[in-house]
Amino acid sequence: MYSAPSIEEQIVYVGKLLFKRRLMDISGGNISCRSGVYIYMTPTGAGHQYHWNIPPQEILCTHIDSDELLEHPKRSREAISHLLVYRAYPTVRAIIHAHPIHVLPFCAAERAIPAVIKSAQVFGAEFGFIEEKPEYSYEQGEEIVARLQPLAGLLEQQAAALLMPKHGVFIAAASLAYAVDCLECLDLNAYCVLAQKWLSQP
Ligand SMILES: [Zn+2]
Repeated sequence: MYSAPSIEEQIVYVGKLLFKRRLMDISGGNISCRSGVYIYMTPTGAGHQYHWNIPPQEILCTHIDSDELLEHPKRSREAISHLLVYRAYPTVRAIIHAHPIHVLPFCAAERAIPAVIKSAQVFGAEFGFIEEKPEYSYEQGEEIVARLQPLAGLLEQQAAALLMPKHGVFIAAASLAYAVDCLECLDLNAYCVLAQKWLSQP
């Protein structure tokens, strides 16, 4: 008899999928979901320790309104940003922080990414940056919450993406499927922007 995958299994599946597609890397990244009053989140070392082959029992689960996640010995360093976004936006049900291969050149150069393909244009005309804050800090979490405010409509419908200077991308979404879709569109769109340079060569 078929039984639907648990939230932990869904997160593990998505981690493997994103790693295979070079949307996640070994150095870091994290995935979380909201279910009711609980947050489920990948542990620290998802990349460098597990290579995104995470045992489902290693997915952390804590109450969103408590700081239990932040005190957990296996918490990801980005846990504070995930928690603050879930608390600020009740419609957000999934978050992915990643270092996608075609997006990173733009993060390194701190250049916003214009949306040049239709699948990416549904997320806006351009993918912009948060202001640089200390990594893994409460301030960074607050900055992400503030930058998502103008994108709140997108958060309810599907997903919104923010670039992080010299770092990666932070995606908040109405579901895990929308978060994956947004990440793939953003990376493909970034590839298209880069590849247009080759097309302009004689
Ligand atoms: Zn990161």
